[in-house]
Amino acid sequence: MAKVSIFWFRRDLRLEDNTGLYYALQQEENVLPLFIFDWNILNKLEDRDDARVEFIHQQITDLKEKLEKKGGNLLVKYGKPSKVYEDLLKEYDIKSVYTNRDYEPYAKERDAEIKALLKENGAEFLTFKDQVIFEPDEIVNGSGDFYKVYTPFSKQWKEKFAELTFDSLDNPKWKNLMETQSNLEMISLADMGFTTSEVEIPSKTVSDELIDKYDKTRNYPAKDGTSRLGIHLRFGTISIRQLAKRAKELNETYLNELIWREFYMMILANNPDVVDKAFKPAYDQIPWRKDEEQFKAWCEGKTGYPIVDAGMRELNATGYMHNRVRMIVASFLTKHLLLDWRWGEAYFAKKLLDYELASNNGGWQWAAGTGTDAQPYFRVFNPTSQLEKFDKDLKYVKKWVPEYGTDDYPEPIVEHKFARERALETYKEALDK
Ligand code: FAD
Repeated sequence: MAKVSIFWFRRDLRLEDNTGLYYALQQEENVLPLFIFDWNILNKLEDRDDARVEFIHQQITDLKEKLEKKGGNLLVKYGKPSKVYEDLLKEYDIKSVYTNRDYEPYAKERDAEIKALLKENGAEFLTFKDQVIFEPDEIVNGSGDFYKVYTPFSKQWKEKFAELTFDSLDNPKWKNLMETQSNLEMISLADMGFTTSEVEIPSKTVSDELIDKYDKTRNYPAKDGTSRLGIHLRFGTISIRQLAKRAKELNETYLNELIWREFYMMILANNPDVVDKAFKPAYDQIPWRKDEEQFKAWCEGKTGYPIVDAGMRELNATGYMHNRVRMIVASFLTKHLLLDWRWGEAYFAKKLLDYELASNNGGWQWAAGTGTDAQPYFRVFNPTSQLEKFDKDLKYVKKWVPEYGTDDYPEPIVEHKFARERALETYKEALDK
């Protein structure tokens, strides 16, 4: 058996500016790239036409073709990663596995298991920073603790970023790819029990012009004023280093948003309990209502609040929702309806193309007041004044709720003033306990 080193693709589905792939090719000969369609993840998905699976499948197909053109190949497996590696260890004499680090709880557990398995078999597991500019333990306060609020975190992030120089990861030694083997087949979507989807994936390119005026356009859901790069950052089809460099030159507000992404990744990595508990523990006392019917109305975009309904219908139809509207619908669910933020979070996780555990959890806990928001819980978004401010001419609402203004449009499922007071009283009572 010839010795091989594996490069394992996960959420870094690109050949350019890919740290782990670059170092694998610089340091090893016979590099065999690998991707695993992971049962542990796929088996939890409810929709057979989940657009994210189709997107990944498409990216893997493209990567395989590109690697073949470079004289190599991509080994594509379908199964549980531990079982896949047990089998690979029988088939190949594995010297080392290179991969980019992932900070989610499941990924950390998976990687620890694979590392141990490889070690037992005399192989190394080498990991690299790639999906972030700064890792969860790199930005800490004077006492070495992680930050709990965004502003000081972002300040230090920017200071460090200003001093940073990046290694050039262009032109790795492609000749070190393992030579093409004709028997490396690509699994089809159907073989994994999935079908194609109607949902369109946003482009992975964004113009300088859009980023340049981002601070002026980003709050208006009717405008094409945001980059829609979420899914590409999630699966690494673009490089965060290249995007952050552009942001630094073009628009500080845009850079701030990329820092929010890393802030929430840092929060999740340092507090894995936030996955099912409030970041501020006292908030787990809030007696969330269990009104399935109102939850259904919210999911379907039938609450009688046009900006909420437009957002939910946009999400259901496209897998996307504008950030301003995400904040409004999340505040509405948790404050107006007093329903558990975890219900909303799970619904978003199912529907969002750009679903990212850390940002979704962070966004929901922020809206519910249970998270890292520096503001107290008594900020309750008023959906009517939000509509007046951000969609004054109703362009967004009319696009998604065509029956708005006719008799077919439902009455509000809850009255604003009553709901606001109920939320404030319920929160206060729970927190005073
Ligand atoms: P742009 O406005 O163009 O921003 C560029 C990138 O910056 C985004 O793609 C994203 O990676 C990052 N970013 C922007 N805003 C935020 C933010 N507030 N927090 C973290 N990262 C940010 N973002 C996700 O990527 N995945 C999620 O699952 C997710 N769930 C959310 C749930 C709620 C309740 C809320 C309020 C926000 C959530 N966000 C989430 C953050 C934000 O809404 C999206 O990142 C953004 O709307 C994606 O659109 P865009 O790519 O056009 O972003």
